[in-house]
Amino acid sequence: MIRINDILDQIHSYMPDADTSLVEKAYVYSAKVHDGQTRLSGEPYLSHPLAVAFILSQQRLDLASITAGLLHDSVEDTLATIEELEKMFGKDVARIVDGVTKISQIEFQSKIQKQAENIRKMILAMSKDIRVLLVKLADRLHNMRTLQYQKEYKRIKIARETLDIYAPLASRLGIDWMKRELEDLAFSFLYPEEYHELRQEVKTRLGQRKGYVEEVQEIISKKMAEYSLSCRVLGRPKHIYSIFRKMRRQNVTLDEIYDLIAFRIILKSVTECYEALGIVHALWKPVPGRFKDYISLPKANMYQSLHTTVIGPYGERMEIQIRTEEMDKIASEGIAAHWLYKEGKIISKNQARQFDWLKRLMEWQKELEDPREFLESVRMDLFPDEVYVLTPNGEIKEFPTGATPIDFAYAIHTEVGHHCAGAKVNGKMVPLKYRLQNGDVVQIITSKHHVPSRDWLKIAKTSKARARIRQWIKTEEREKSLVLGKDLCAREFKKHRLNFNEFIKSDAEEIASSLSFKTVDDMLIATGYGKISPSQIVRKYLRTKHGEDFELKEAEVQTQTRAKKPSKEGILIHGHDDIMIHLAKCCTPVPGDEVVGYITRGRGVTIHRETCPNVAALEPDRKVEVTWTTDNNVNYPVKLNVITADQKGMLAAVSNAISAAEANILEAKVTTTPDQSAHFTFLAEVRDGDHLKKVVSGIKKVGGVMRVARQASN
Ligand code: MN
Repeated sequence: MIRINDILDQIHSYMPDADTSLVEKAYVYSAKVHDGQTRLSGEPYLSHPLAVAFILSQQRLDLASITAGLLHDSVEDTLATIEELEKMFGKDVARIVDGVTKISQIEFQSKIQKQAENIRKMILAMSKDIRVLLVKLADRLHNMRTLQYQKEYKRIKIARETLDIYAPLASRLGIDWMKRELEDLAFSFLYPEEYHELRQEVKTRLGQRKGYVEEVQEIISKKMAEYSLSCRVLGRPKHIYSIFRKMRRQNVTLDEIYDLIAFRIILKSVTECYEALGIVHALWKPVPGRFKDYISLPKANMYQSLHTTVIGPYGERMEIQIRTEEMDKIASEGIAAHWLYKEGKIISKNQARQFDWLKRLMEWQKELEDPREFLESVRMDLFPDEVYVLTPNGEIKEFPTGATPIDFAYAIHTEVGHHCAGAKVNGKMVPLKYRLQNGDVVQIITSKHHVPSRDWLKIAKTSKARARIRQWIKTEEREKSLVLGKDLCAREFKKHRLNFNEFIKSDAEEIASSLSFKTVDDMLIATGYGKISPSQIVRKYLRTKHGEDFELKEAEVQTQTRAKKPSKEGILIHGHDDIMIHLAKCCTPVPGDEVVGYITRGRGVTIHRETCPNVAALEPDRKVEVTWTTDNNVNYPVKLNVITADQKGMLAAVSNAISAAEANILEAKVTTTPDQSAHFTFLAEVRDGDHLKKVVSGIKKVGGVMRVARQASN
């Protein structure tokens, strides 16, 4: 069992003058909160945080990381809270522990392998402080080292997760030794027999080849020197899992694997690499078909190197990799793989900069004299443009930053999107405009009656959701425009004492096509959208019947108002129902006002006050008669301008007067002017014109109020 002194000694070995009081305090605290808990191994629980902190100190990390290592399980497994940790150990430590706790709490239930890449990205995104990930990896490493004490099904689950998620993460951070240890440990638990057999065999073979590595290294170095090439030659035994993987992938036996030891020649330039290749091929006979040039044809993950297999000094096949220092760095850090390129598209410059920076992180750490500089308040957003959330089943979905539950709903299914009525995030209801956060568990609530609205376009972030919403609105508007167009035409026909139903049955198709519409419906929809007027159709119809010179006589208008269902806005359009109606925002009409309807292009009918200055500019052809209905319970917004003396308490006094008149205030704006008066604009809700009068007279009675006027338009 690791003791606290082992950790302190390790820290002092690379930070001789470090003040370790925080680490010691964390040790005492951790011992206290974990008191009485034991590991499955039977050891006191404290042995785990100590081991994790020791691993972190072996990586020469800073004091905050090591302190967090000692405390990493305290919030999850004891009564300790993040707030308490922050008070005692500072913000940095608390934030790291919080991050580690959050990652530990995610349950990856389904299809881990299939989703591995997304899970890795989500963990990275959640580790805004890279130290979170380093502590998490150390935690996982120690758990893997003691995995034999777990029950079998848990062993398998944790080992699988390690192989799919954590070993690749270690590799991306350039911690190659950890990646190899994690892989070999996971392999030993997933395939115990294969592991032990293979390890024994490899050991025997390497034992037979003692001195072999040095011999080959020397031959290569000497030969390169003859040609004035300076290089490094590496020969390293491969780890068991990578040998196993190669045997599996290529379906070969150990006898057929010749690179138990991988030789690598590292040079300065690309030209030198090809030169060295020529020298190697002159020295040992190359095996035909085994040469690969990944320098001129890099792998998708940017890996570059020359690979060749030759017949070595003892007649044995030998694989040799030849590359530059830079290529070697990229290969060993394994970071370029997914981070510089994803799905074939180049990531943003900003992102690339961050990855570059991360890539250099581990190098810096090695070079720095004082690791206290290292990772000091290192915070970053590894994937600033993306957010990863989970379905209730533990499936991960990727979205652009700023995505909302609506995007999530459409990502599940179009129908779920169309009927999305609400959302729960981590079990709590959130508004639809809620911005999804990394690690959120999102559940969509649907209702048959809920349908998309135009406002959703402002909320939705993904192009998929936006396209589906637009499509829905378009279909909806088409249907409503067809009804409106039909009604408008019927009215126009009636005005001219013509039979609209007869027209539809007999001549409509011909007229539609002569007006360049594909179908009769298209023509009627265009009328509803206001693209053509009903009188154009009538004129065309009559001229087709009676010749081009036929002049339209203004027939006497026959208005026959049938009892129709009023719209929810309380507006009745003569002879029509089921029409989209909007109250104009410029003049905010209320019942009792003289109003006029205007057929907009594609958005139904807008209701203006007749006195609205905007009405004068409207095309006369597209105006429709409208009236208010009286029996509805709707409130109408109305804009009021109030000018008062510039004295204290005016806003409160006027607001009170409005409320006293039983009107709801939606908005209030204030501007003071140099002329010692204050200008207020209220947006209030009233039932009708009479109610409005009551509100206005109420305001006028307030002392200091100089003028009250309804705003004509904006
Ligand atoms: Mn732990």
